[in-house]
Amino acid sequence: MPDTLQSAHRIVVKVGSSLVTNEGKGLDQSAIANWAEQFAQLRAMGKEVLMVSSGAIAEGMKRLGWSKRPTHMHELQAAAAVGQMGLAQVYETSFRKYAIQTAQVLLTHADLTDRARYLNARSTLRTLLELGVVPIINENDTVVTDEIKFGDNDTLGALVVNLMDADLLIILTDQQGLFNADPRKDPTAKLINLANAGDPALENMAGGAGTLYGRGGMISKVLAAKRAASSGACTLIASGREPQILLRLAQGESIGTWLQAPTPKLSARKQWMADHLQMRGKLILDAGAVRALQEDGKSLLPIGVIKVEGDFSRGEVVSCSSCEGVEIARGLTNYSASEARLIARKSSSQIKEILGFVEEAELIHRDNLVLI
Ligand code: GLU
Repeated sequence: MPDTLQSAHRIVVKVGSSLVTNEGKGLDQSAIANWAEQFAQLRAMGKEVLMVSSGAIAEGMKRLGWSKRPTHMHELQAAAAVGQMGLAQVYETSFRKYAIQTAQVLLTHADLTDRARYLNARSTLRTLLELGVVPIINENDTVVTDEIKFGDNDTLGALVVNLMDADLLIILTDQQGLFNADPRKDPTAKLINLANAGDPALENMAGGAGTLYGRGGMISKVLAAKRAASSGACTLIASGREPQILLRLAQGESIGTWLQAPTPKLSARKQWMADHLQMRGKLILDAGAVRALQEDGKSLLPIGVIKVEGDFSRGEVVSCSSCEGVEIARGLTNYSASEARLIARKSSSQIKEILGFVEEAELIHRDNLVLI
């Protein structure tokens, strides 16, 4: 059994609607308080934790007095808008007891495929983690319906893992994990302890379970694990009703279903950059910048850039080369080509004066850069 939660540094925990709202009865304050307590302890162990929580629709339905899930999308979206108010409130109050600040972050899948928005979301979330704030993330159900139709935020959890280069996705649900058959119908069904994320056999086993209040059956969890594995992260599917589940996992206890990522994180990230993003430009670096990147593990600052080639926007991938023409890194640029030309060879403290605003002090942040 891999000791993934013990070794994981950045963790995304996704909790489903039926857990968050006690199967639609209303926001489960004690369950949320319990996760807050466990998060506090995980942070004391030096881990960074992000929460992806659904439950907005279920809570909204309760607040609006609807006992049956509506079929029309616009009604579900309206319910989500109502319920999200309560969701944010309970998370805020529960985490505050442990002196932890929370932040509400509403994202869509499209936000994470658009390059500039991807970088904006990544920078915001990274800053929140640096500030010690726990992001509480949900889909922005007013403008999109992906998770309402299918995932109950399972997919969103995986997208956040990819976005933040997290080590582990923990999907807490109302089942013990993934079984080789539906345990509600087949008493001989066995829990799968360990498998490879992306194994096609898992998709057959998971086939379409679902509860009244959340859309995400096992199939969306298995697909989320496959997506998380594309950036090298493992997924754990386990019961959110197990007492102290996160802490027990952190102590190495074997609970639920581990879905391992077949490719290690760093090469998966390089692959992801190669597959998902076309290179739009090139930065030629001086010897000091090459050293800073290759030897010191630093970010690329504008002062180290001698020349900017090509035409690119914020969030696109650019190649970084030495004066001798050797490619040494690739990364997501914080500034467009025209902005980069203006700030090249300048100190970061001059960016504000030159451009009138500062996206970041770095031209490419270390977290958004892979060495070639
Ligand atoms: N984003 C939705 C929520 O928070 C997903 C869950 C659902 O479809 O019920 O409620």
